[in-house]
Amino acid sequence: MEEKLRILVVDDDEVDRMAVRRALTKAGVEIELSEVGDGNGAITVLADTSYDCVFLDYRLPDQDGLSLLQTLRSTNIKVPVVVLTGQGDDQIAVELMKAGATDYLSKSRLSPEILPPILRNAIRVHRAEMQVALANQQLRESNELLIRKNQELEAQRRQIERQNLKLIEASQLKSQFLATMSHELRTPMNAIIGFSQLLLRPKCGELTHQQKDMVQRILNNGKHLLMLLNEVLDFSKLEAGRLDLKPEIFDLSKIVNATVQEMRSLAEQKDLSLLIQIDLQNPVVFNDPTRVRQILTNLLSNAIKFTESGCIKVEVKEISENQLGIAVCDTGIGIAPAELQNIFEAFRQVDQSTTRKYSGTGLGLPIIKALLQMMGGHIIVESRLGEGSVFRIKIPRQTLSSTQQGQDEALNSTHASTSRNLWKQQELPRFVQSQSIKEE
Ligand code: ADP
Repeated sequence: MEEKLRILVVDDDEVDRMAVRRALTKAGVEIELSEVGDGNGAITVLADTSYDCVFLDYRLPDQDGLSLLQTLRSTNIKVPVVVLTGQGDDQIAVELMKAGATDYLSKSRLSPEILPPILRNAIRVHRAEMQVALANQQLRESNELLIRKNQELEAQRRQIERQNLKLIEASQLKSQFLATMSHELRTPMNAIIGFSQLLLRPKCGELTHQQKDMVQRILNNGKHLLMLLNEVLDFSKLEAGRLDLKPEIFDLSKIVNATVQEMRSLAEQKDLSLLIQIDLQNPVVFNDPTRVRQILTNLLSNAIKFTESGCIKVEVKEISENQLGIAVCDTGIGIAPAELQNIFEAFRQVDQSTTRKYSGTGLGLPIIKALLQMMGGHIIVESRLGEGSVFRIKIPRQTLSSTQQGQDEALNSTHASTSRNLWKQQELPRFVQSQSIKEE
């Protein structure tokens, strides 16, 4: 069933109004029709009641159709308006359309055949226009919302940027503080260690057994503190990118043997056996011996620290012609799977409580990882809680940080006449093996 349309006819001529009514009724259009005779009456009615369509006579007694359309627009009354024009008003009709009329029709064509389709079309066009206007309005609103959100995001981004800068600054200050403090503390620490060593020498006069014991403790604790300070210093240097490798040619098996011997007394204090197995055809490497030693010392002291019984084993082997592997295995407390990745982060320890059993800075493994990265090597760990851990490192025979200058220096220090090409042809290791291995 067709909806009943509310129609307003604005015309001062009774006959014309009737013509509209008759044309629509005859065509069977369901309407509820209201009539007014002038422009002001129309505005009053339209302000109160909503209509589906207005038929507007162009020539009203108080105003013309154009000014009425403008008034409707300015008062924001939205209704489709079909203007009824007289003969020869075509030019006026164009102006009316521009002013917002939906359609126009000459009064001479007011018939049941022509009027209904014009009415329906005007309503359809108006509704479509309203929908477009609504969609446009929604679009404008969401656009404004987006602009506001964007502004908020931009403000947040700038805030985060500012906070980031502050954090970077604070982190740099912290690193600087760590570096300065550890550097400053090393000088008095070296004096404590040096003077304790002097006191323990017989030349300085005999000490009682008890005094000796106390000085030895001062010495041991001083060394331990110095080791911790060095870790902090190394870490801050690595963080600032200020730690350089000093590569040279050396015998890896000698460094490994020496380091293991150095750590043996620590293992013996805990009744741990310390085994070493070196399986190298060619032990010559080009790397920083101090840093390789530091890596090994760190892994071994961890292995000893975290093992209560059983043994520690160090294995060295060739993985390939240009890659060497060192594994440090222990039968200690092991590490839970969830912790395996964390332990390589700075200051991360499995037990971070202040009452923890095992001492340390939590910097050993991050330093090892960073040093190995600089060398072009890497470290992995396998572990089972309660059974033990294996830390495996891989290092290239020739470290990445071996700049040409470093290599040249190494070459010059081994044999003046050795040409750069010999190294490139990988003949140097053999040559070095027989003549120029740097003694420990
Ligand atoms: P630190 O030993 O000074 O605490 P590290 O960076 O060397 O710092 O090690 C980080 C953490 O990794 C240790 O606190 C410990 O929880 C765990 N860890 C390292 N090596 C072992 C090991 N061999 N066995 C068990 N846990 C280990």
